[in-house]
Amino acid sequence: MSQLLSYDREHVWHPYAPMPPTAEPLLVRSARGVRLELDDGRRPIDAMSSWWAAIHGYGHPVLDAALHTQAGAMSHVMFGGLTHEPAIELARRLVELSPAGLEHVFFADSGSVSVEVALKMAIQHQRGRGHPGRTRFATLRGGYHGDTFGAMSVCDPVNGMHTMFADVLPSQVFLPRPPAGLDADITAWSAEADAALVAASGELAAIIVEPVLQGAGGMHVYPPAALAWLRRRADELGLLLIADEIATGFGRTGEMFAMDHACIAPDILCVGKALTGGYLTLGAVLCRPHVAAGIAESESGVLMHGPTFMANPLACAVAMASLDILAASDWRSDIARIGAGLATGLAPATRLDHVVDVRTLGAVGVIQVDRGVDVGLAAKIALEHGVWVRPFRDLIYTMPPYVCRDEDIATICTALVAAAGGMA
Ligand SMILES: *Cc1c(COP(=O)(O)O)cnc(C)c1O
Repeated sequence: MSQLLSYDREHVWHPYAPMPPTAEPLLVRSARGVRLELDDGRRPIDAMSSWWAAIHGYGHPVLDAALHTQAGAMSHVMFGGLTHEPAIELARRLVELSPAGLEHVFFADSGSVSVEVALKMAIQHQRGRGHPGRTRFATLRGGYHGDTFGAMSVCDPVNGMHTMFADVLPSQVFLPRPPAGLDADITAWSAEADAALVAASGELAAIIVEPVLQGAGGMHVYPPAALAWLRRRADELGLLLIADEIATGFGRTGEMFAMDHACIAPDILCVGKALTGGYLTLGAVLCRPHVAAGIAESESGVLMHGPTFMANPLACAVAMASLDILAASDWRSDIARIGAGLATGLAPATRLDHVVDVRTLGAVGVIQVDRGVDVGLAAKIALEHGVWVRPFRDLIYTMPPYVCRDEDIATICTALVAAAGGMA
């Protein structure tokens, strides 16, 4: 065991980590239901759902069976010139699940790659429509869209983890972050955003946003009215609207997609993370027929993308099974129940002097403190309470699996409040 960890320490890179590392990761042996099973025998609840992904918990018999059955048929074949039922049936489910009009599906390897594909789609569409100068993107400050170069360029320019790449990234147009809260007044925000949009509109291909909840950029909840406003202005200015629902999709915020809070449909939709129930990496980009038509009119006529492992059958089969579990479940009441439990359980944190905000949206709960969180200490305190969390910046937060019972949610809340208390 310690041999494994010492090899890890010397050779294996972890996310956003130095080499050699300064912190020791926990060795996970297995995972079942809502719990990780650590090498030392502890079994913490995974309050992070492995970064928004494991919505049905670990080792789900239906997901396991889908994976085994598909492995028996074929694990992978190339997607150029070939097709298969897992991809076709998953595409059918995604088209049926998403707002009317999103009819075409491009499968990508991950969330970040799906964002790259969406950006390409928008640029090629504009070229096809006779606007080769429309190559830039407008986005909200405080956003996060992934770690590849195109995606990085639309992440928050200041707080984003990517300021050091500023000189090599394409320069995008940053709109102010909408005010906090579902019901906030957007008058002042929209006036400011409008000025920036109009000034750059001739160069813009699209607006890309995380609907209603900005995730890794700061767990910021903003009014659906702001999204509806962006939808309207995109149409008026000849821009496409790209919704990045990689974190928020599949029920997490209380609606199937966060954009459903605003009753809008984008021109292009990116999904990922929970798509496979947290089993395998897969993203998908859906678009409306007019986007595809524009691309068909561009000089190449084809969408210039095609990853080696496009539409991997294992990933598609398990994604299909995950969407079936979701469809068969009463996810709306599960999310409402978890949301209520989080609101009640996290409320005691508001009494801590250094806590500046406690907020929830759907099955997401956030404690924001007035300082940078000591990630190692916060995780250690939570672990002592039987919970795995991974805070960032000034945020201690949870997006638990949908299968958490009320007592699991209570345990998570106790752990988060204790971790917040330990930051004083
Ligand atoms: C996680 C995330 C991405 C990137 O997805 P990866 O699978 O990590 O590449 C993009 N956008 C949003 C909103 C995300 O939360």
